[in-house]
Amino acid sequence: MRRMHLMYHGIHDDASSQGHFDPVYSVSPKRFAQHLDWISEQERPERFHITFDDGDISNVTTALPLLVDHGLLARGVRVTFFITGGFIDRPGMLRRADVRTLAEAGMHIGAHGMSHGFLEDMDLESLRCELRDSKATLEDIIHHEVDAMALPGGRGGAREFEEALACGYRDLYGSRPGPDDGHTQAGWRNRVAVTRQLDETKFAALANWNGSAARWARLRHGALALPKRVLGNARYQRLRAVLT
Ligand SMILES: [Zn+2]
Repeated sequence: MRRMHLMYHGIHDDASSQGHFDPVYSVSPKRFAQHLDWISEQERPERFHITFDDGDISNVTTALPLLVDHGLLARGVRVTFFITGGFIDRPGMLRRADVRTLAEAGMHIGAHGMSHGFLEDMDLESLRCELRDSKATLEDIIHHEVDAMALPGGRGGAREFEEALACGYRDLYGSRPGPDDGHTQAGWRNRVAVTRQLDETKFAALANWNGSAARWARLRHGALALPKRVLGNARYQRLRAVLT
């Protein structure tokens, strides 16, 4: 079975919604519900893994009720919330009790760094702290092992992968777009970013990794990778902020 890991962030109507609205990554509740409808209509919904990065408050206020309504967990769909340890309890982000609520509802909890700093830019000691502290923070909240992790900003390679394994993580995700077909980013599993502008048709094409949707996702990823290499991560972030 070729699995597809879908990457969401916040679920927001607009900038006035609770949480941190992002013009590129915030998906509206209506669209999100349509995506879930589409997944539940599939012959094998369990090939989709729905993931959320960062830990926006809308993960519990908006995404969770929609996920529960659709009954996807009972049909074998896995859902993972990758939560940045240092963001917990900040305004607009999940609180400790919310993380517990998600876990108690049967959702998986994964780590997403402590500071959301890019791991590949860090010296070994800082990298190890990020990996260890984010895992321990979440485990302390849910009283359960956390062995999944997603790379902040999708930035990382072989060094980060090896260190994550050494720290006790087993299930590791990057953000190179594509199905989980054995082609990884230095060991990190592929994921597909679900962005705001995807209507039902475009979402279906992307989730099925069909034709132009797949080519466009790869192209967009590649186009953003080049300035990233040339500019370095800090300057690239400023460029991306200007562009979006
Ligand atoms: Zn993130």
